[in-house]
Amino acid sequence: MILDGHIHIDSGPEERGDFARQLREAGVDGGILLSPAPACFAGAIHTASPQERLEKVLFWCEAGPNLYPFYWIDPTETDALKQVDLAVSKGIAGFKVICSTHDPGDPRALRTYQAIAEAGRPILFHSGILWDGKPSSPHNRPANFEALLDVKGLRFALAHISWPWTDECIAVYGKFQAALHQRDDLGVEMFIDTTPGTPPIYRRDALTRLFTVGYDVSCNVFFGSDNHANDYNAAYVHEWIERDRAILAEIGVEEATVANVFGENLKRFVNAS
Ligand SMILES: [Zn+2]
Repeated sequence: MILDGHIHIDSGPEERGDFARQLREAGVDGGILLSPAPACFAGAIHTASPQERLEKVLFWCEAGPNLYPFYWIDPTETDALKQVDLAVSKGIAGFKVICSTHDPGDPRALRTYQAIAEAGRPILFHSGILWDGKPSSPHNRPANFEALLDVKGLRFALAHISWPWTDECIAVYGKFQAALHQRDDLGVEMFIDTTPGTPPIYRRDALTRLFTVGYDVSCNVFFGSDNHANDYNAAYVHEWIERDRAILAEIGVEEATVANVFGENLKRFVNAS
């Protein structure tokens, strides 16, 4: 099974049949679909209401099995807790956050993350350089996410291996792994989403470091493509899958771990059976 942990929804054609066909062509069996963006990212003019954004992602998830709807939330909005409740009541499997205007440890955001953790849902964060045309990348450096150590029971992933701060991302992962034992009452677990991010010339280096650093990453790394449901590019996704498979084979990653990276780890992240 191959799952794509990072599929956006853009404006444009809404042909679920085409999307399902493209997934099949790429050899992908499902994945995480991210709702349209909140105002802090999309700009107020282009932002739909929480209800509309939820409906949109749920609509796309009917394209096939193994599609998990994530609601993109601005955790600093005054009604963020209400949005969490609404999203959970509609069957949302997880949440997406891009820290474009706040730090991961913003107290308003931490309150929202705690509610998400209590609802048993994971959070997929953007991390690394952010191409939004604004001075926002400092919010997204991996070490800033240490603030999440205090969010009891949270399951979260940093996307893009935090490129270009991949070493920092791996080090932060090591810290969270250690904290699972040091502070086992908190149970905060970090995942890494390998969505590029990393341009091809950095890929081998980043994956080699991630899989040979010596930390136990076998159950906590998953693949993603950053494609759009509206124009899912099967050839592009297939190329990344093949590139990653070749690198993982070359550096001697066990078959069982490779299978985890392309499927099982994402299922564990979203708590799917
Ligand atoms: Zn993305």
